[in-house]
Amino acid sequence: MTSSSDVVVVGAGVVGAAIAFYLAKSGAKVTLVDRDAPGGRTSRVSFGWINALGKRPEHYHRLSRLGVDAYTQLEEDLGPGSGIGHGGGLHWPSPDDAGRSEMASLVRDLEEFNYPYSLLTSQEAAELEPNVRVDGVDDGILYAPIERWADGDLLAGALAKQAVEYGASLASPVSVRELVTDGSRVTGVATSDGFLSAGTVVVAAGTASVGLLAPLGYQLPLGRVVGILGVVSAPVGTVSRVLYPGKYHLRPTNDGRVAIGCRDMDDLVDEDTDTSSPPSWMNQLLDMARRDCPALGGGQIEELRVGARPMPADGLPIVGPVPGVQGAYVAAMHSGVSLAAIVGQTLAGEIISGGVSPVLERYRPDRFSGSADTSV
Ligand SMILES: Cc1cc2nc3c(=O)[nH]c(=O)nc-3n(C[C@H](O)[C@H](O)[C@H](O)COP(=O)(O)OP(=O)(O)OC[C@H]3O[C@@H](n4cnc5c(N)ncnc54)[C@H](O)[C@@H]3O)c2cc1C
Repeated sequence: MTSSSDVVVVGAGVVGAAIAFYLAKSGAKVTLVDRDAPGGRTSRVSFGWINALGKRPEHYHRLSRLGVDAYTQLEEDLGPGSGIGHGGGLHWPSPDDAGRSEMASLVRDLEEFNYPYSLLTSQEAAELEPNVRVDGVDDGILYAPIERWADGDLLAGALAKQAVEYGASLASPVSVRELVTDGSRVTGVATSDGFLSAGTVVVAAGTASVGLLAPLGYQLPLGRVVGILGVVSAPVGTVSRVLYPGKYHLRPTNDGRVAIGCRDMDDLVDEDTDTSSPPSWMNQLLDMARRDCPALGGGQIEELRVGARPMPADGLPIVGPVPGVQGAYVAAMHSGVSLAAIVGQTLAGEIISGGVSPVLERYRPDRFSGSADTSV
Protein backbone atom coordinates (compact mmCIF):
# COMPACT_ATOMS: atom_id res chain seq x y z
CA MET A 1 0.00 0.00 0.00
CA THR A 2 1.21 3.50 -0.79
CA SER A 3 -0.94 6.46 0.11
CA SER A 4 -0.58 10.14 0.73
CA SER A 5 -1.79 12.43 3.53
CA ASP A 6 -1.02 15.93 4.73
CA VAL A 7 -0.19 14.53 8.16
CA VAL A 8 0.58 11.07 9.54
CA VAL A 9 0.13 10.70 13.29
CA VAL A 10 2.04 7.75 14.73
CA GLY A 11 0.28 6.36 17.81
CA ALA A 12 -3.43 6.34 18.66
CA GLY A 13 -3.16 6.60 22.43
CA VAL A 14 -5.06 9.48 23.98
CA VAL A 15 -2.40 11.95 22.83
CA GLY A 16 -2.06 10.92 19.17
CA ALA A 17 -5.79 10.26 18.77
CA ALA A 18 -6.54 13.76 20.11
CA ILE A 19 -4.05 15.35 17.71
CA ALA A 20 -5.59 13.43 14.78
CA PHE A 21 -9.08 14.37 15.94
CA TYR A 22 -8.35 18.12 16.01
CA LEU A 23 -6.43 17.98 12.71
CA ALA A 24 -9.31 16.17 10.99
CA LYS A 25 -11.85 18.49 12.56
CA SER A 26 -9.98 21.40 10.96
CA GLY A 27 -10.07 19.74 7.56
CA ALA A 28 -6.52 18.33 7.28
CA LYS A 29 -6.02 15.03 5.44
CA VAL A 30 -4.78 12.83 8.29
CA THR A 31 -3.78 9.20 8.70
CA LEU A 32 -3.64 7.89 12.27
CA VAL A 33 -1.49 4.77 12.58
CA ASP A 34 -1.28 2.33 15.49
CA ARG A 35 0.21 -1.13 15.79
CA ASP A 36 -2.53 -1.95 18.31
CA ALA A 37 -6.15 -0.92 18.87
CA PRO A 38 -6.50 2.81 19.74
CA GLY A 39 -5.72 3.40 23.40
CA GLY A 40 -4.60 -0.19 23.90
CA ARG A 41 -1.26 0.58 25.59
CA THR A 42 -0.46 3.03 28.40
CA SER A 43 -3.73 4.93 27.93
CA ARG A 44 -5.63 1.77 28.93
CA VAL A 45 -3.58 1.40 32.12
CA SER A 46 -4.02 5.02 33.14
CA PHE A 47 -5.94 6.01 36.24
CA GLY A 48 -7.27 8.67 33.90
CA TRP A 49 -7.76 11.49 36.41
CA ILE A 50 -8.23 14.76 34.50
CA ASN A 51 -6.92 17.46 36.80
CA ALA A 52 -4.46 20.25 37.51
CA LEU A 53 -4.19 19.60 41.26
CA GLY A 54 -0.71 19.85 42.74
CA LYS A 55 0.92 20.50 39.35
CA ARG A 56 4.01 22.68 39.57
CA PRO A 57 5.54 24.97 38.42
CA GLU A 58 2.80 27.51 37.91
CA HIS A 59 2.96 27.50 34.09
CA TYR A 60 2.42 23.71 34.14
CA HIS A 61 -0.54 24.14 36.47
CA ARG A 62 -1.95 26.71 34.00
CA LEU A 63 -1.47 24.32 31.05
CA SER A 64 -3.13 21.49 33.00
CA ARG A 65 -6.01 23.76 33.93
CA LEU A 66 -6.50 24.64 30.25
CA GLY A 67 -6.42 20.89 29.70
CA VAL A 68 -9.24 20.28 32.17
CA ASP A 69 -11.29 23.13 30.69
CA ALA A 70 -10.79 21.91 27.10
CA TYR A 71 -12.73 18.74 27.97
CA THR A 72 -16.00 20.68 28.15
CA GLN A 73 -16.04 21.28 24.40
CA LEU A 74 -14.39 17.95 23.58
CA GLU A 75 -17.05 16.03 25.41
CA GLU A 76 -19.70 17.85 23.42
CA ASP A 77 -17.85 17.05 20.19
CA LEU A 78 -17.54 13.35 21.02
CA GLY A 79 -21.05 12.81 22.40
CA PRO A 80 -22.06 9.63 24.26
CA GLY A 81 -19.45 6.87 24.47
CA SER A 82 -16.50 9.23 24.96
CA GLY A 83 -15.28 7.32 28.03
CA ILE A 84 -15.23 10.57 30.03
CA GLY A 85 -16.76 10.67 33.52
CA HIS A 86 -17.65 13.54 35.87
CA GLY A 87 -18.29 14.39 39.46
CA GLY A 88 -15.10 16.24 40.34
CA GLY A 89 -12.57 14.86 42.82
CA LEU A 90 -12.68 14.36 46.59
CA HIS A 91 -9.35 14.38 48.41
CA TRP A 92 -8.54 13.90 52.02
CA PRO A 93 -5.18 13.41 53.73
CA SER A 94 -3.82 10.27 55.30
CA PRO A 95 -4.31 10.63 59.07
CA ASP A 96 -0.73 11.59 59.94
CA ASP A 97 1.33 14.78 60.12
CA ALA A 98 2.79 14.27 56.64
CA GLY A 99 -0.70 13.86 55.13
CA ARG A 100 -2.01 16.97 56.87
CA SER A 101 0.94 19.14 55.86
CA GLU A 102 0.69 17.89 52.23
CA MET A 103 -2.98 18.84 52.19
CA ALA A 104 -2.27 22.27 53.68
CA SER A 105 0.32 23.00 50.99
CA LEU A 106 -2.08 21.79 48.28
CA VAL A 107 -4.77 24.15 49.54
CA ARG A 108 -2.28 27.06 49.54
CA ASP A 109 -1.48 26.31 45.88
CA LEU A 110 -5.15 26.16 44.95
CA GLU A 111 -5.77 29.53 46.56
CA GLU A 112 -2.79 31.03 44.75
CA PHE A 113 -3.85 29.56 41.40
CA ASN A 114 -7.54 30.29 41.81
CA TYR A 115 -8.48 26.63 41.29
CA PRO A 116 -12.14 26.01 42.08
CA TYR A 117 -12.42 23.98 45.29
CA SER A 118 -14.24 23.84 48.60
CA LEU A 119 -13.55 22.16 51.92
CA LEU A 120 -16.39 19.85 52.97
CA THR A 121 -17.37 18.32 56.27
CA SER A 122 -17.60 14.50 56.51
CA GLN A 123 -21.35 14.82 56.29
CA GLU A 124 -21.23 16.93 53.13
CA ALA A 125 -18.78 14.47 51.56
CA ALA A 126 -21.11 11.60 52.51
CA GLU A 127 -23.92 13.33 50.64
CA LEU A 128 -21.78 13.23 47.50
CA GLU A 129 -20.48 9.69 48.12
CA PRO A 130 -22.96 7.82 50.31
CA ASN A 131 -20.91 4.58 50.19
CA VAL A 132 -17.70 6.16 51.42
CA ARG A 133 -16.76 6.75 55.07
CA VAL A 134 -14.51 9.70 55.78
CA ASP A 135 -13.74 9.80 59.49
CA GLY A 136 -11.17 11.73 61.49
CA VAL A 137 -10.49 14.45 58.91
CA ASP A 138 -10.65 17.65 60.92
CA ASP A 139 -9.39 20.17 58.39
CA GLY A 140 -11.96 19.46 55.69
CA ILE A 141 -12.28 17.23 52.66
CA LEU A 142 -11.13 18.91 49.51
CA TYR A 143 -13.69 18.89 46.73
CA ALA A 144 -12.57 20.01 43.25
CA PRO A 145 -15.73 20.08 41.12
CA ILE A 146 -14.13 20.70 37.71
CA GLU A 147 -12.14 17.47 37.69
CA ARG A 148 -13.11 14.56 35.48
CA TRP A 149 -11.84 11.07 34.75
CA ALA A 150 -11.68 8.90 31.66
CA ASP A 151 -11.11 5.32 30.64
CA GLY A 152 -8.18 6.05 28.33
CA ASP A 153 -8.87 3.23 25.91
CA LEU A 154 -12.47 4.34 25.41
CA LEU A 155 -11.44 7.97 25.08
CA ALA A 156 -8.76 7.20 22.48
CA GLY A 157 -11.24 4.97 20.61
CA ALA A 158 -13.87 7.73 20.59
CA LEU A 159 -11.34 10.33 19.39
CA ALA A 160 -10.15 8.03 16.59
CA LYS A 161 -13.72 7.21 15.57
CA GLN A 162 -14.71 10.87 15.44
CA ALA A 163 -11.51 11.72 13.54
CA VAL A 164 -12.56 9.13 10.94
CA GLU A 165 -16.01 10.72 10.77
CA TYR A 166 -14.28 14.01 10.00
CA GLY A 167 -12.44 12.29 7.13
CA ALA A 168 -9.26 10.86 8.72
CA SER A 169 -7.98 7.36 7.87
CA LEU A 170 -7.22 4.95 10.69
CA ALA A 171 -4.51 2.37 9.93
CA SER A 172 -4.72 -0.20 12.74
CA PRO A 173 -3.15 -2.61 13.42
CA VAL A 174 -0.27 -1.23 11.35
CA SER A 175 3.23 -0.80 12.73
CA VAL A 176 5.45 2.14 11.78
CA ARG A 177 8.95 0.82 11.14
CA GLU A 178 10.66 4.16 10.55
CA LEU A 179 10.25 7.77 9.58
CA VAL A 180 11.49 8.34 6.02
CA THR A 181 13.42 11.50 5.13
CA ASP A 182 14.84 13.18 2.08
CA GLY A 183 17.86 15.06 3.38
CA SER A 184 16.66 16.75 6.53
CA ARG A 185 12.97 16.78 5.53
CA VAL A 186 10.49 14.07 6.46
CA THR A 187 8.59 12.53 3.53
CA GLY A 188 6.48 9.90 5.28
CA VAL A 189 6.65 6.65 7.21
CA ALA A 190 7.54 3.07 6.28
CA THR A 191 4.96 0.74 7.82
CA SER A 192 4.17 -2.97 8.03
CA ASP A 193 1.59 -2.18 5.33
CA GLY A 194 3.74 -0.11 2.96
CA PHE A 195 4.83 3.52 2.58
CA LEU A 196 2.64 6.40 3.77
CA SER A 197 3.68 9.67 2.23
CA ALA A 198 3.16 12.88 4.22
CA GLY A 199 4.79 16.28 4.50
CA THR A 200 4.24 16.23 8.27
CA VAL A 201 4.67 13.33 10.68
CA VAL A 202 3.70 13.58 14.35
CA VAL A 203 5.33 11.00 16.62
CA ALA A 204 2.91 10.40 19.50
CA ALA A 205 3.92 6.81 20.18
CA GLY A 206 4.21 7.08 23.98
CA THR A 207 7.35 5.44 25.33
CA ALA A 208 8.07 4.00 21.86
CA SER A 209 8.67 7.53 20.53
CA VAL A 210 12.29 7.33 21.68
CA GLY A 211 13.09 4.45 19.31
CA LEU A 212 11.28 6.05 16.37
CA LEU A 213 13.19 9.32 16.70
CA ALA A 214 16.69 8.01 17.50
CA PRO A 215 17.52 7.03 13.87
CA LEU A 216 16.90 10.68 12.91
CA GLY A 217 19.65 11.71 15.30
CA TYR A 218 17.26 13.03 17.96
CA GLN A 219 17.54 11.55 21.45
CA LEU A 220 14.15 12.17 23.04
CA PRO A 221 14.81 12.63 26.77
CA LEU A 222 11.99 10.37 27.87
CA GLY A 223 11.96 7.62 30.48
CA ARG A 224 9.49 4.88 31.42
CA VAL A 225 7.83 4.79 34.83
CA VAL A 226 5.87 1.59 35.23
CA GLY A 227 2.54 1.60 37.02
CA ILE A 228 -0.39 -0.68 37.78
CA LEU A 229 -4.16 -0.30 37.76
CA GLY A 230 -6.54 -2.77 39.39
CA VAL A 231 -10.13 -3.10 38.19
CA VAL A 232 -12.49 -4.34 40.89
CA SER A 233 -16.01 -5.78 40.57
CA ALA A 234 -18.51 -3.71 42.52
CA PRO A 235 -22.22 -2.96 42.68
CA VAL A 236 -23.10 -0.26 40.15
CA GLY A 237 -22.78 3.22 41.67
CA THR A 238 -20.37 2.19 44.45
CA VAL A 239 -18.36 5.36 43.81
CA SER A 240 -19.28 8.26 41.53
CA ARG A 241 -16.12 10.31 41.12
CA VAL A 242 -12.35 10.39 41.64
CA LEU A 243 -11.50 9.73 45.30
CA TYR A 244 -8.06 10.35 46.81
CA PRO A 245 -8.01 9.13 50.39
CA GLY A 246 -4.36 9.89 51.09
CA LYS A 247 -2.33 6.89 50.06
CA TYR A 248 -4.28 5.47 47.13
CA HIS A 249 -6.96 6.46 44.64
CA LEU A 250 -10.13 5.04 43.15
CA ARG A 251 -12.78 5.98 40.62
CA PRO A 252 -15.66 4.44 38.69
CA THR A 253 -15.17 2.86 35.27
CA ASN A 254 -17.54 3.15 32.35
CA ASP A 255 -18.47 -0.53 32.65
CA GLY A 256 -19.71 -0.14 36.23
CA ARG A 257 -16.62 -1.37 38.09
CA VAL A 258 -14.08 0.49 40.23
CA ALA A 259 -10.50 1.30 39.20
CA ILE A 260 -7.90 1.44 41.96
CA GLY A 261 -4.28 2.58 41.99
CA CYS A 262 -1.51 3.48 44.42
CA ARG A 263 1.83 5.21 43.72
CA ASP A 264 3.64 3.13 46.38
CA MET A 265 2.51 -0.05 44.65
CA ASP A 266 3.75 1.18 41.29
CA ASP A 267 7.22 0.70 42.77
CA LEU A 268 6.51 -3.03 43.17
CA VAL A 269 5.88 -3.75 39.48
CA ASP A 270 7.82 -3.93 36.27
CA GLU A 271 6.67 -4.63 32.73
CA ASP A 272 7.11 -8.38 33.28
CA THR A 273 4.92 -8.54 36.38
CA ASP A 274 2.50 -11.47 36.17
CA THR A 275 -1.00 -9.97 35.90
CA SER A 276 -2.87 -13.28 35.80
CA SER A 277 -3.78 -13.10 39.49
CA PRO A 278 -3.44 -10.32 42.10
CA PRO A 279 -0.33 -10.34 44.29
CA SER A 280 -0.91 -10.16 48.07
CA TRP A 281 -0.12 -6.43 48.20
CA MET A 282 -2.88 -5.72 45.69
CA ASN A 283 -5.35 -7.51 47.95
CA GLN A 284 -4.04 -5.42 50.86
CA LEU A 285 -4.79 -2.33 48.82
CA LEU A 286 -8.31 -3.60 48.21
CA ASP A 287 -8.72 -4.23 51.96
CA MET A 288 -7.65 -0.64 52.62
CA ALA A 289 -10.25 0.58 50.10
CA ARG A 290 -12.92 -1.63 51.72
CA ARG A 291 -12.35 0.14 55.03
CA ASP A 292 -13.12 3.50 53.40
CA CYS A 293 -15.81 2.09 51.13
CA PRO A 294 -17.54 -0.92 52.72
CA ALA A 295 -19.69 -1.40 49.59
CA LEU A 296 -16.53 -2.84 47.99
CA GLY A 297 -16.75 -5.69 50.50
CA GLY A 298 -17.68 -8.45 48.06
CA GLY A 299 -15.64 -6.97 45.20
CA GLN A 300 -12.78 -8.88 43.62
CA ILE A 301 -9.83 -7.69 41.57
CA GLU A 302 -10.92 -8.84 38.13
CA GLU A 303 -8.17 -7.27 36.06
CA LEU A 304 -4.64 -5.99 36.56
CA ARG A 305 -3.19 -3.66 33.96
CA VAL A 306 0.50 -2.80 33.88
CA GLY A 307 2.08 -0.17 31.63
CA ALA A 308 4.79 2.47 31.42
CA ARG A 309 4.21 6.18 31.76
CA PRO A 310 6.15 8.25 29.21
CA MET A 311 8.15 10.44 31.59
CA PRO A 312 10.13 13.41 30.18
CA ALA A 313 13.49 14.06 31.85
CA ASP A 314 12.21 17.25 33.50
CA GLY A 315 8.70 15.92 34.06
CA LEU A 316 7.13 18.43 31.65
CA PRO A 317 5.49 17.68 28.30
CA ILE A 318 7.66 17.58 25.16
CA VAL A 319 5.58 18.95 22.29
CA GLY A 320 6.59 20.54 18.99
CA PRO A 321 9.03 20.35 16.09
CA VAL A 322 11.78 17.73 16.29
CA PRO A 323 15.09 19.60 16.20
CA GLY A 324 16.93 19.15 12.90
CA VAL A 325 14.13 17.30 11.04
CA GLN A 326 11.77 19.47 9.02
CA GLY A 327 8.17 18.33 9.08
CA ALA A 328 8.60 16.03 12.11
CA TYR A 329 6.83 16.74 15.40
CA VAL A 330 6.78 14.94 18.72
CA ALA A 331 4.17 14.86 21.50
CA ALA A 332 5.28 12.90 24.59
CA MET A 333 4.16 13.47 28.15
CA HIS A 334 3.07 12.17 31.49
CA SER A 335 -0.48 13.14 32.52
CA GLY A 336 -1.43 12.64 28.90
CA VAL A 337 -5.09 12.09 29.77
CA SER A 338 -5.31 15.47 31.50
CA LEU A 339 -3.43 17.14 28.66
CA ALA A 340 -4.70 15.33 25.53
CA ALA A 341 -7.41 17.85 24.67
CA ILE A 342 -5.36 21.05 25.08
CA VAL A 343 -2.21 19.58 23.51
CA GLY A 344 -4.18 18.01 20.63
CA GLN A 345 -6.05 21.20 19.91
CA THR A 346 -3.01 23.48 20.16
CA LEU A 347 -0.56 21.32 18.22
CA ALA A 348 -3.12 20.68 15.48
CA GLY A 349 -3.64 24.45 15.24
CA GLU A 350 0.11 25.06 14.91
CA ILE A 351 0.51 22.39 12.24
CA ILE A 352 -2.37 23.74 10.18
CA SER A 353 -1.50 27.42 10.51
CA GLY A 354 2.28 27.11 10.58
CA GLY A 355 2.11 29.43 13.59
CA VAL A 356 3.49 29.09 17.08
CA SER A 357 1.17 29.12 20.11
CA PRO A 358 2.30 30.60 23.43
CA VAL A 359 0.36 27.79 25.16
CA LEU A 360 3.13 25.31 24.29
CA GLU A 361 6.16 27.62 24.39
CA ARG A 362 7.61 26.14 27.61
CA TYR A 363 7.40 22.60 26.32
CA ARG A 364 9.39 22.59 23.09
CA PRO A 365 11.78 19.71 22.39
CA ASP A 366 14.65 22.15 21.78
CA ARG A 367 14.65 23.28 25.42
CA PHE A 368 16.98 20.36 26.12
CA SER A 369 19.50 21.36 23.45
CA GLY A 370 22.84 22.27 24.86
CA SER A 371 22.12 20.95 28.34
CA ALA A 372 24.91 18.84 29.75
CA ASP A 373 22.84 15.70 30.12
CA THR A 374 19.40 14.96 28.75
CA SER A 375 19.42 11.28 29.61
CA VAL A 376 16.86 10.00 32.10
C1 LIG B 1 -0.62 3.59 36.28
C2 LIG B 1 -0.75 4.89 35.51
C3 LIG B 1 -1.57 5.89 36.02
C4 LIG B 1 -1.70 7.10 35.34
N1 LIG B 1 -2.57 8.02 35.81
C5 LIG B 1 -2.78 9.16 35.10
C6 LIG B 1 -3.79 10.07 35.53
O1 LIG B 1 -4.46 9.85 36.54
N2 LIG B 1 -3.98 11.18 34.77
C7 LIG B 1 -3.26 11.44 33.63
O2 LIG B 1 -3.48 12.46 32.98
N3 LIG B 1 -2.30 10.58 33.21
C8 LIG B 1 -2.05 9.46 33.91
N4 LIG B 1 -1.12 8.56 33.50
C9 LIG B 1 -0.30 8.90 32.33
C10 LIG B 1 -1.07 8.73 31.05
O3 LIG B 1 -1.71 7.50 31.05
C11 LIG B 1 -0.12 8.83 29.86
O4 LIG B 1 0.55 10.09 29.90
C12 LIG B 1 -0.87 8.72 28.54
O5 LIG B 1 -1.64 7.54 28.49
C13 LIG B 1 0.12 8.71 27.39
O6 LIG B 1 -0.64 8.58 26.21
P1 LIG B 1 0.10 8.40 24.84
O7 LIG B 1 -0.96 8.50 23.79
O8 LIG B 1 1.25 9.32 24.75
O9 LIG B 1 0.74 6.93 24.94
P2 LIG B 1 0.09 5.49 24.70
O10 LIG B 1 -1.23 5.36 25.30
O11 LIG B 1 1.13 4.48 25.07
O12 LIG B 1 -0.11 5.48 23.14
C14 LIG B 1 0.97 5.33 22.25
C15 LIG B 1 0.47 4.50 21.10
O13 LIG B 1 1.51 4.40 20.12
C16 LIG B 1 1.43 3.14 19.53
N5 LIG B 1 2.72 2.84 18.92
C17 LIG B 1 3.92 2.76 19.54
N6 LIG B 1 4.90 2.47 18.63
C18 LIG B 1 4.28 2.36 17.43
C19 LIG B 1 4.75 2.05 16.12
N7 LIG B 1 6.04 1.80 15.85
N8 LIG B 1 3.84 1.98 15.13
C20 LIG B 1 2.52 2.22 15.37
N9 LIG B 1 2.03 2.52 16.59
C21 LIG B 1 2.90 2.59 17.61
C22 LIG B 1 1.10 2.21 20.70
O14 LIG B 1 0.51 1.00 20.24
C23 LIG B 1 0.14 3.06 21.51
O15 LIG B 1 -1.22 2.81 21.22
C24 LIG B 1 -0.97 7.32 34.14
C25 LIG B 1 -0.17 6.31 33.62
C26 LIG B 1 -0.06 5.11 34.31
C27 LIG B 1 0.79 4.03 33.71
